[in-house]
Amino acid sequence: MSGPRIDVDLDAVRANVRAVAELTGTPLLAVVKANAYGHGASQVARAALEGGAERLGVVDLREALALRADGFTEPILTWMHGARTDWLAALDADIELGISSLAQLELLDIGLGRLEHSDHSVVVHLKLDTGLGRNGISAIEWESAFTKAAELEARGLIRLEGLFSHLAGAGAAEDAAQLASFKRALELAARCGLTTSVRHLAATAGSMSLPESRFDLVRLGVSLYGLSPFSAGTECPVVLHPALSLSAPIREDPRGFRVDLGQAVGLPPVAAGSVELLDDTGAAWRVASVDSLELRIEPLEGAAAASSRLDQSEEQPRLLVIDAAGSASADTWAAAAGTINYEVVTRLSTRIPRHYSGVTAPRGMGLAHAPAQRDGCELALAPRRELTVDVELLRTRMGERARELAGALAAGMGARHAARAFSVDVSADAYGHGAHLVAGLALEYGLLPLVATKADLEHVGEADRRATLVDHERTSDAASRAVYGFHDPNARVTVSLTSELAHVKRVTAGHGVSYGYDWIAEEPTTLGLVPLGYADAIPRRVAGRGEVVVGGERRPIIGRVAMDQVVIDLQDQEAWIGMPVSVFGSEPRDIHLREWASWSGLEPQAFVAAFGPRIVRRERHAE
Ligand SMILES: *Cc1c(COP(=O)(O)O)cnc(C)c1O
Repeated sequence: MSGPRIDVDLDAVRANVRAVAELTGTPLLAVVKANAYGHGASQVARAALEGGAERLGVVDLREALALRADGFTEPILTWMHGARTDWLAALDADIELGISSLAQLELLDIGLGRLEHSDHSVVVHLKLDTGLGRNGISAIEWESAFTKAAELEARGLIRLEGLFSHLAGAGAAEDAAQLASFKRALELAARCGLTTSVRHLAATAGSMSLPESRFDLVRLGVSLYGLSPFSAGTECPVVLHPALSLSAPIREDPRGFRVDLGQAVGLPPVAAGSVELLDDTGAAWRVASVDSLELRIEPLEGAAAASSRLDQSEEQPRLLVIDAAGSASADTWAAAAGTINYEVVTRLSTRIPRHYSGVTAPRGMGLAHAPAQRDGCELALAPRRELTVDVELLRTRMGERARELAGALAAGMGARHAARAFSVDVSADAYGHGAHLVAGLALEYGLLPLVATKADLEHVGEADRRATLVDHERTSDAASRAVYGFHDPNARVTVSLTSELAHVKRVTAGHGVSYGYDWIAEEPTTLGLVPLGYADAIPRRVAGRGEVVVGGERRPIIGRVAMDQVVIDLQDQEAWIGMPVSVFGSEPRDIHLREWASWSGLEPQAFVAAFGPRIVRRERHAE
């Protein structure tokens, strides 16, 4: 019980599924994308199925194959794919594909061509844009897409099982308009000769507020976790039980009281005093600030009283940062940070250890791991979400630090003092780079690796752990992170983030985009879909500010940031599915990481340290 930890109550998940099943009377698909909104995909999936869900849903094939590898044999639906997706991997592992454009059907045709005259086919659900303006087949493409799908089915490449769409939740009238549009699509599909047995439109909110949207299946996300999809003031018709608690021991040092949880593990910055928390002895605390690596708190009882209480308690009191039992919820944090409960839990880093209660016997690991390669090539299982570490630049910076250290020693600085002054902070899994890599490099250059907490040592790597210093004081000095180039506006940063366009679509004036329709096209324009959301790298707070670079041009993120994706306005730029997107980087036209940090209100090092598990890290070495 010594460090920060997350506790997940799987009985709560089972109870939530049962409660929604009772209300809706509809078969349920449990949405466990983004590591089950931060709760742990396999554990939640198992509990949700035990609670009565019949299917699972995730965003991409890589997430789906991880579930298969953990022994799940139920239907698994995926709905976001990259331009180079290996469709045969879906066939091999029996994963269902949500398909979002005519172009994607053409890609399927090419990728699955060799299945013709075989008795294998891939199960497909067509995803329709009925007004959300993100991925999904545009209404003007419906007829041609249905015709194409019927052709692929006739040739035996696919088996069309479902038609689905997603509500924008922009209001009752807008939801009703989407429902009507979905019904038109169903009629058109029937006229095009498609027979689909599974029609689905509603996620949690729709399933509760618009019974007509339930059709044959409800895709249940946030309510699985015991959180309401509705904003404060709208009552949730189902009694839900939050499943997640977050806690950490309270420390006192000369700078005050604190716990080792900060922006770098996904906690959102909040104004001083806007959140009050209890510890596990019942004493109350006020949040003073959420820093990069820690949460600073003040006791309501007064510092002297708290100090002597901490001194006298046998077990170190733990601060209940998110408390499933009641005192502070994900909603408390969401209200203080100006965001939604979804983002609060989903952004909690996988570096915080998860503990589960209500675990039943694990399933047999019956299935072999899906193949990672075909014809000697790495399989493309997810859209590109790549954090590239510039190892050469890191080496150059380490070399500079090593020379400075030598200079300080030559000038008579004591060896111990010098080693600390030129140490390299490898906390927070080394801020996107991988602590193992950076600690190893530091030692190679004769520099002392340093971490803020014992928990950070976990990521440093066996051999280098003994050589790594734990020193909270030193990591608060930005100089210990100089090698990364985060703060210097003229310095290149040692990581860059790239993605690809997952969809491109032309829309007419008046088209609303993303949840709540915060952005509406004023004139005809081209929209691009970038498969990165707040689960990955892009906090909701950047909406209305953030930009990415496509083909050398800066393009604004429009509408709300969703968990798995954002939409950008490409205007009249020529663009295609698979076109590279630079989020931040070091090329002359790239956006600097610091700009992203300021849009999101986070420290630059915390911004990268909080990236989610779908981001793939690659190292670039000298050629
Ligand atoms: C995330 C997601 C859901 C789940 O939504 P909740 O509001 O969390 O219930 C359902 N469908 C799709 C397509 C999604 O991306």
